[in-house]
Amino acid sequence: MVSVRIGRGHYVLPSVHPKEVHVEITSDCNLNCEFCFRKSWSEVPGEMSLQLYSRILDQLEGMGAEFVWLGGWGEPTYHRNFLEILEMTSRRFRTGILTNGTMLDKYAREIVSYGVEKVVISVDSLDPNKYESIRVGSSLKELAHSIKTLREEKLKRRSAYPSIWFIKVLMKSNLEELPEEIGRASEMGAVGLILSNLIPTKEELADQVLYGRVPDPRVKRVLHMARGRAINSRIRLVEPEFEYRTDRFCPFVFRDQLAINRHGEVSPCLFALHSYVAWIDGRRKKVNKITFGNVAERPLNEIWWDRRYAEFRARVELLQFPSCNDCPFEEFCDMASSNELDCWGNSPSCAACPYYRRVVQCPRTDVMEMLMV
Ligand code: SF4
Ligand code: SF4
Ligand code: SF4
Repeated sequence: MVSVRIGRGHYVLPSVHPKEVHVEITSDCNLNCEFCFRKSWSEVPGEMSLQLYSRILDQLEGMGAEFVWLGGWGEPTYHRNFLEILEMTSRRFRTGILTNGTMLDKYAREIVSYGVEKVVISVDSLDPNKYESIRVGSSLKELAHSIKTLREEKLKRRSAYPSIWFIKVLMKSNLEELPEEIGRASEMGAVGLILSNLIPTKEELADQVLYGRVPDPRVKRVLHMARGRAINSRIRLVEPEFEYRTDRFCPFVFRDQLAINRHGEVSPCLFALHSYVAWIDGRRKKVNKITFGNVAERPLNEIWWDRRYAEFRARVELLQFPSCNDCPFEEFCDMASSNELDCWGNSPSCAACPYYRRVVQCPRTDVMEMLMV
């Protein structure tokens, strides 16, 4: 039992283990997308070694983790030992892949035969020109072929798995096409569409966001139409928030998730898996990586129950962070220029995190499964 001091009280953390884990097996990718997070960092991309990955799986199993997402800030299918990794993972865990989808055809047979449960594909537009201008290095035709191969393999093996989901990052430039896309996504084999919002990683993209204190006025109308299309096409729609509301919810900490980057560093979330620069609420912010240890150096169990990490989780759960997003000083406050420190003394801070405000979303098995019932 771990109890941490918060303000004048003590908070006893429930003795839960990490249930859903995002592992970045590579931070490299075959594409060069317009808004990729990796464009605003200074790290050299690379792969996780099989030795480290195997160690992580052993420790996750020992802690009772249930679901492993192969994802993070790179393209998992681009890892040179992807098949080996897939086999190692799916033998021991329920498995999902978060992917750009372009190489699914190459691994379709194994993805189906190993029983991968969920494949979430980034598809930001079904307009060929737009898709290609966002997902630089791929084409919609190539993606459609790749998904078709996976579906054919499912049919051949009479398998319901993996369920195919699309994830779309909404921006001003691709909002209006959403209702139209829903029918097409269904024809392409998607059972659901996760909608998220943009975290701009360069200044030119800052005015593309649809969310904030006052969301883009078109959002309500477009979403209303999209919901209707989703019902007709039997597509499950997972919607983000667009307006900053008082309540906050961290999809990672509140659902006992964590993320591990390709170096083995353990982070509470995908948002702070690496250090980078983002334009949040129109202001340049340095997002520093949040990590509480490296699995290559310390057992995961020890890192998870490290006092600093436990206290951080408790603070997130108890909403012990100020909110920069709707603070009148956000534009001028020195502390709001990074997640290093906030005015309540938290370091690191979640005060300006767009996941916390639910405007940005990641795939979550609990939500996806609830919608499938
Ligand atoms: S597919 Fe993902 S990791 Fe690859 S360039 Fe695009 S956004 Fe970045
Ligand atoms: S750190 Fe505090 S004062 Fe500064 S912008 Fe955030 S909430 Fe406002
Ligand atoms: S609130 Fe944001 S920064 Fe904090 S743990 Fe959650 S996702 Fe990460």
